[in-house]
Order: sequence, then C-alpha cells, then structure tokens
Amino acid sequence: MEELIKRAAQDLANSSYAIALTGAGMSTESGIPDFRGPSGIWTKNPDAERRAYRSYEFFMENPKGWWVERVTGPNIFGDLAGYSPNAGHIAIGDLEKYGILKTVITQNIDGLHEKGGTKNLLEYHGCALKLRCVSCLSRMRREEIDLELLLKEDRLPPVCSVCGGVIKTDTVGFGEPIPEDVAEKSLEEAWKCDLMLICGTSAVVYPFANLPRIARQKKANYEIYIDPSEGKRPTGKTTVIEINAEPTPLTQEGISDYLIQGRIGEILPKIAAEVMRIRQI
Ligand code: NAD
Repeated sequence: MEELIKRAAQDLANSSYAIALTGAGMSTESGIPDFRGPSGIWTKNPDAERRAYRSYEFFMENPKGWWVERVTGPNIFGDLAGYSPNAGHIAIGDLEKYGILKTVITQNIDGLHEKGGTKNLLEYHGCALKLRCVSCLSRMRREEIDLELLLKEDRLPPVCSVCGGVIKTDTVGFGEPIPEDVAEKSLEEAWKCDLMLICGTSAVVYPFANLPRIARQKKANYEIYIDPSEGKRPTGKTTVIEINAEPTPLTQEGISDYLIQGRIGEILPKIAAEVMRIRQI
C-alpha cells in the first residue's frame, strides 16, 4: 500500500488538472452510515427505503403534502448538521489549497467537504443542509426559511424569493433529474481533467458512475459530445485512481489504473503529505 500511496502522490504532483469524485465511504469515518452496508440506514429501516423511492413522485404530485410530511416526520439521517469532517475530508481540502485538486464532485449530501475546507465543490446529489428552487435552481441554507412557521400558517410549500417557483430540499430524490447546472459542470470537469481521484464510492449509482467512464473514454468519444470550437480539446489519457475499502466495478472493468485498498482517513492524509514533500510546499 505504501508504494501505491507514493505513486498516487507523484501522479497528483505531475497532474495539471486533477479532480476528485467522492461517495458515502468518504464519510463513514465521520460516523455517517451508508445505505446498504451491514449497519446501513436502509438495511435497518426498509420502510425508509420504500418511502425514499416514491418521494420525488409524491413531491411532484403534491408539494404541500410532501412538505408537511417532511416537517413533521423523522429525518432518515438524523441531524446531519451535527457531524464533523474526518482526516480524509481535511486532506481533500488541503490538496485543493495546494493547487493540486481543482474541483471535488461528491455524491454525499452531508456538507462535510465544505466543512473540511473544499471551496470548489459540486454536490451531485445536492446537500441535506440546503434547499433548492426547482425552477431557477437558487440554493439557500435550510435555516433561511422558517418551515415550522410556514406549517403553522398553512403556507407550505415554500416559494422562491427570486422567481416564485416551488422550493424542495436540495437533495436529489430517486427519479429526480440531477440539477442541470451541476450535471453540466460535472460533465465538463470529467472531460477536462487529466487525473481523477475516486474515493469511497461503489460506483453503481448512475449517472454519477458515468463520470469515470467519460474521463476514461473522452479521447475516443470527444467529437461525439462536444463541439471542439467551444472548448479546449482534451488530449492524452486521464489517470484514474481509486481509494476504497474493496474493489468496485471500476476496478474490475479496468476503468481505474489502480486501487489503493484501505481506509480513506488513513490513506488520503499520507498522500497529501507526500504531495507536499514532492512539491516542497
Ligand atoms: P456506497 O455505500 O454504495 O459505497 C461506499 C463505498 O465506500 C463502498 O464500496 C465501501 O466499501 C467504501 N467504504 C466505506 N467506508 C470506507 C472507508 N472508510 N474507506 C474506504 N472505503 C470505504 O456509496 P455511494 O457509491 O456514494 O452511493 C450511495 C448513494 O447514497 C449516493 O448516491 C449518496 O448520495 C447516498 N448516500 C450519501 C451519504 C452521505 O452523504 N454521507 C450516506 C449514505 C448514502
């Protein structure tokens, strides 16, 4: 493992546009469970899974009823605002600070990358601590809207102060499209990067799981997707590195160049320290 850590640090130090992709495994060391592991939220509460699958459809049919259920019912994650970033989140924040990582694209909804110092962040599945207007995509912190008061005054659903559209939580439900702004920017980053560092995702949830495949395929398929006159044409191969407790389809299909198998909270700080040494930061 130590050799692979050195290799990853060298690859990062040599890169010109590195990005990171992260998943639920990034936050297990902060105490936030994943969905389907042995202690997963849905393993323990199958009813929550059934409700999650029909949640977006219900919102579209009856936003008021959806909000009443949200404000009065339990939150499946409990209070996500109470968790702290772990050594992995801090190392990702440091790698951005050193100018190595240009963007982080996360599937996580826990807000821990932001707390860990990441500035250029794309929250692919939204953030549980934020709300979003479904029309103009304006985001706001949850506490900016007094949901309890709106419930009491029978004024749910909340409406957007910018465009008057209906507001929902920022988290992306099953069947809900990825918000256009985040989807487009993520695709752009996957095209642009020359190194993709993938941490703690089983890479089975789509369309997020397409991003590493796009990075790997971009040279071959570039002209199919993007008009070359609109942007810089990517050249060469993207290095794809995985850090995960176990092999994933990306490992098995040869999408990643190599897997560093182990705990993110142990591996990422070592990589960040080695990058600092190489770059003499
Ligand atoms: P996943 O649960 O499918 O996969 C997590 C992967 O990380 C697994 O392969 C697991 O072996 C690995 N892992 C777990 N802890 C690790 C550690 N400490 N070090 C290294 N590897 C570790 O997660 P996913 O691919 O992100 O997909 C789940 C979906 O659920 C996502 O869409 C996400 O939005 C959502 N989700 C988010 C959170 C969160 O915000 N923290 C938590 C649960 C689920």
